[in-house]
Amino acid sequence: MAIVYLNGDFLPADQAMISPLDRGFIFGDGVYEVIPVYNGHLFRIHEHLRRLDDSLAGVRIPPPYDHQRWRAMLHELVKRNQGQNQSLYIQITRGVAQRDHAFPESINPTVFAMSSELKPLPQTIREAGISAITTEDIRWQCCHLKTIALLPNILLRQQALDQGAAEAILLRNGEATEGAASNLFIVREGKLITPPKGPRLLPGITRDLIVELGNRHGLPVLEAPITAAELAHADEIWLTSSTKEIMPVTQLDGQMVGNGRPGPLWQQMIRLYQDYKAHYTEDGQPGTATAG
Ligand code: PLP
Repeated sequence: MAIVYLNGDFLPADQAMISPLDRGFIFGDGVYEVIPVYNGHLFRIHEHLRRLDDSLAGVRIPPPYDHQRWRAMLHELVKRNQGQNQSLYIQITRGVAQRDHAFPESINPTVFAMSSELKPLPQTIREAGISAITTEDIRWQCCHLKTIALLPNILLRQQALDQGAAEAILLRNGEATEGAASNLFIVREGKLITPPKGPRLLPGITRDLIVELGNRHGLPVLEAPITAAELAHADEIWLTSSTKEIMPVTQLDGQMVGNGRPGPLWQQMIRLYQDYKAHYTEDGQPGTATAG
């Protein structure tokens, strides 16, 4: 039985109890983070905790812990669940109160964390890539906050699955912004392009690392809008996230992307990414921001 963390205690998942009056359950009033663990190291932990702070501030939930306490708790969770590679999920809700839209006075946030096995990207995806569809973004206007209310993302992902694709790439005002649970990159005439950060997309930790690696290794990345037409004619399309890393999209809306195989820039970037992972320690690397 997996061990989870709930409000100060580590316990088997089936013994963790949350009130039905928790505002996470009633309203979807909370935020979350997903942090990969490689060889026991919390990958890009400083960046994940900074984004968690931003999400909490964005929905006005007081931060329950400082970074040192988060890290200590997460390391303990990793230890109790064993396994070198794990995916950690943290969720914080505004807490338990009688149902009322207004923020309740003096309640404690609910803090929950769990771990699951982090599996490497299947070989079939590395060799053949994935299919994606494009569809209109039906989400709200604060997509930069990592909130638990994911119903639109769920519907969008399911729409892709129902059409035999793995992910939905979202369009707003004729521009492609990100996937239902991933960030977007395209390659066009040898240039790597990703949409600029802003309220229309999540500031992905993987996205930022790719920008950083690209700049460091002479593959500069342009942060610029991507129109639906540019997406349709891209030489390569990638979708990125902490658990799936960098997925090459080889079919878009039933049409081949490039020559229908993962492209050369993807091959280069996935090598850089795996190399970065292999050398990563939580205390940082040369050229890596480590401020907590
Ligand atoms: N965009 C959305 C909507 C997501 O849900 C996710 C991750 O789940 C991402 C982008 C990728 O973010 P990260 O690289 O931090 O996992």
